[in-house]
Amino acid sequence: MTYIDLRSDTVTKPGPEMLKTMLEAPVGDDVFGEDPSVRALEELLANMFHKEAALFCPSGTMTNQIAIKVHTRPADEVICDETAHVYNFEGGGIAFNSGCSVKLIHGDQGRFTSDQVDSCINDPSNYHLARTRLVVAENTSNKGGGSVWNLNDLQDISLLCKKQGFAFHLDGARLFNAMTFDGSRPEEHGKIFDSISICLSKGLGSPAGSVLLGPKDFITEARRVRKLLGGAMRQSGYLAAAGIYALKNNVAGLVNDHTHALELYNALKKAPSVANVTQPQTNIVLYKLKSGISTADYLARLKERGILAIPFGPDSIRMVTHLDISQQQISQACTTLSTT
Ligand SMILES: *Cc1c(COP(=O)(O)O)cnc(C)c1O
Repeated sequence: MTYIDLRSDTVTKPGPEMLKTMLEAPVGDDVFGEDPSVRALEELLANMFHKEAALFCPSGTMTNQIAIKVHTRPADEVICDETAHVYNFEGGGIAFNSGCSVKLIHGDQGRFTSDQVDSCINDPSNYHLARTRLVVAENTSNKGGGSVWNLNDLQDISLLCKKQGFAFHLDGARLFNAMTFDGSRPEEHGKIFDSISICLSKGLGSPAGSVLLGPKDFITEARRVRKLLGGAMRQSGYLAAAGIYALKNNVAGLVNDHTHALELYNALKKAPSVANVTQPQTNIVLYKLKSGISTADYLARLKERGILAIPFGPDSIRMVTHLDISQQQISQACTTLSTT
C-alpha cells in the first residue's frame, strides 16, 4: 500500500532532477575549505539574508545548538517559548552542550512579545540569578501549528535585545514557509536576528542539511564548534548541491503546501472524531480528537485507510503537507478524513 504520508515535511525524497544535480556537483574536502558546492551554498544564503557568513551543517539541531553554544557561556540563561524546538526536541541539548538554564515564555502558538521577553530578564547586578544572554524565536513555530510571527513583534524584540546586549537567534527551520505566507523578505529577517538557522530538509525537500547564518567572527567560532561536535564533513558538496537546487526550484511551490493544509483543515472540521482544528497559516495542521477517542486507535484507523499522521502531545494530531504530496492525494485524504 502506498500511503499519503503527512507525518512530516522531512519524508520527501529527492526527485530525478535534484539527484542529477547532486551527481554532477563539483566537490572537495570541506574540512580543508575546498568544497566549491558547499561554498556556493553558504554564499548564496549569506547574500540572500544580507549576512556576512554561513556554515553548512548536517542538521537543524546542530545549527541551533552551535548558535546557542557560541552566543552563551555556561550558567547563562536562554529565553524561548515553552513550545520551542530548541527546548523540547533537541534532546536537552541546551543543558548538555552549553550548560545554560532556560526561561520559558507562555506564548501564543509559539510566538511572544517584547514585553514578555522584558519580564523574563534577570537583573544582571543580582548574582543569585543566571545571566540572561540569548533569546530564541522559531518561525514558523512547529509546535505552534506552523504559526507565523508578526514582523513588528520580532523587530521590537530585536531592539530590546540590542539595548540589553543579548543575542537574538532564529530557529528558521521553516522560515521560507513564513516568508511565503507574509511576503517578508530574507534581508528583513537578516536585519532582525544576530543568527539564523535554515533547514533545507523540511519543506525545501533536500535529503539533509541546514545552514547557520551570522556575522563573520560568529561563523568562525561556529565552525570550531561544528568540528568539536563531529559535524565537519568532507565531500558534503553532494548534499550542498541538493540544497542549492532546492533553494532555486522548491521555494515557489511552498504556497501549494499551504493551500493543501487549508484543504485538510476544512475536511477535518467536518470529521466525526475531531473536536477542534487550528486554522493553519502554513503547512502544519494541528487538531484534537473528541474525548474518549484514543489517539492510537484513531491513527491506526487512518493508516488502514491510507493516511499517515503523528501524535503531537497527549491528545493532539499533527499533519504536515509537503512537496511529495499531490493535489490528487490531498483530495483523496480530504474525503477519507471527513468520514474518519
Ligand atoms: C526540524 C526542526 C529543526 C531541526 O531538526 P533536524 O531534524 O535536526 O534537522 C529545528 N527546529 C524546528 C522548528 C524544526 O521543525
